[in-house]
Parts: sequence; C-alpha cells; structure tokens
Amino acid sequence: MIKTLTVKSSAREDFIDITDEVERVVKAEGVKRGICYLYVPHTTAGITINEGADPSVKKDILSVLKKIAPQAAGYLHMEGNADSHIKATIVGSSVVVLVEGGSLLLGQWQSIFFCEFDGPRTRKVYLKILKED
Ligand code: ZN
Repeated sequence: MIKTLTVKSSAREDFIDITDEVERVVKAEGVKRGICYLYVPHTTAGITINEGADPSVKKDILSVLKKIAPQAAGYLHMEGNADSHIKATIVGSSVVVLVEGGSLLLGQWQSIFFCEFDGPRTRKVYLKILKED
C-alpha cells in the first residue's frame, strides 16, 4: 500500500515538518513494527530528517544551501530554477524511518522535513510501510 501525503508550501524555500502527519498514518494503519519509506516525486523538492526542536537549525541549513547554490549563478538550465534542482539533489528525495512499538523510531530532537526549493506549490510525498508483524 502506498499513501500519498499532500504538502502545501507557502514560500519559495521552506522546510515543512511532516512528522505528525507521517505518525498519524502509521497509527491509522495499525503498524506495530516495520519500515516506513518516504519518497518525494519532485525534482525541485526533497526530504530530510534533522532537528525539529530549534527552528534556527532549518534556517541555518537553508542559508548554507543558498550559499552553495545561489538563485542566479549563470546556470545552463533556462527554467530559472537550476538552484532548486541542485538543492533537491543535495538533500535527497527519500528517507527511511523505523517503526517500533507503533511509533516512528526517531531521535528525541529529530523531525521529518519536506524540503521545498521552488514553491509555493502543492506537493506530494509517497509513503510506503513494510509491516514486520
Ligand atoms: Zn527546472
């Protein structure tokens, strides 16, 4: 079974915490233990797991990505979003989270972030759970 989460971004670049939504799906499916795959089917967005407690962390990560790939830097790609493609590749398009005891097995400070690099848009995240029990 594949579930589709819908994520609406409200800025060109943003990290959107989707941990609670993923957790809700895991609980609704009654999964006690297993593996949860999250996959972003976009070329200018990605997904990552990092600190959710201090919002400065996502701002710092976005700030560094902007330094690595400035919006205008003489790119060949003519669509005007070459930087978005580069940032999406750096971050990656999938993560795996273990499910144990009916919950996502994340570290105390970890959150799952949908990473928007060419918003605002309505985006998708595919979620597949492999049940162990
Ligand atoms: Zn493009």
